[in-house]
Amino acid sequence: QRTSEIRPAELVARVLGFCGEEIAARGVALEVEDRSGEARLAVDLDQMVQAFLNLILNALDAMAGVAGGRLRIAIAPAPDKALAVTVTDNGPGIAPDLLERIFDPFVTTKQTGTGLGLATVFAIVESHGGWIEARNAPGGGAAFELTLPLAGAPA
Ligand code: ADP
Ligand code: MG
Repeated sequence: QRTSEIRPAELVARVLGFCGEEIAARGVALEVEDRSGEARLAVDLDQMVQAFLNLILNALDAMAGVAGGRLRIAIAPAPDKALAVTVTDNGPGIAPDLLERIFDPFVTTKQTGTGLGLATVFAIVESHGGWIEARNAPGGGAAFELTLPLAGAPA
C-alpha cells in the first residue's frame, strides 16, 4: 500500500472530483457534513477513492427512479481513535434478505451488475484496518457506514 495522510474532507473532495458532475447531471442534491475537525486518515488514496466511488455509483443507481434524489456524506468522530464516514441515499433501500450478503462477491440485483463493487469496498476497508456496515436509513434509503482508524492509531 502507498499510504497518504489526508483529511477526510480532502478525500471526499477527491472522490467528488470524479463523480461530482455526474451527481449534478442526475439532479441529485449533495450534502456533505464534516465534523472531523483536524483529524486525518492514513489511506491508500487510489484504493479509498475507488471504494467511495463504488458506494456513490451504487447510490446513483438506486436513486435512478427517484425524483428528488438526495446523497449525503457525513464524516464524524468515532470511538477508539476512528472516524465514521457514512454515505446515505434516499433510494428504495436494501431488501432485508440481501442485507446479510450484500458484501459477498457476485451478489447483484442488477441485470448487468457484477456484484463486485461492494466486495471490493469491503476488502479495501478491511485492508485499512476499518470496517463497514450496511443498513437501511430510518426515513428509507440505504446507508453505508465506514469506520476507519485515524492516522497514527494502531490498526
Ligand atoms: P453491482 O452494483 O454490480 O450490482 P455491488 O456489489 O456494487 O454490485 O452491489 C451489490 C448489490 O447491492 C446491488 O446490486 C444492489 O442490489 C445492492 N445495493 C448496493 N448499494 C445499494 C444502495 N445504495 N441502495 C440499494 N441497494 C444497493
Ligand atoms: Mg456497484
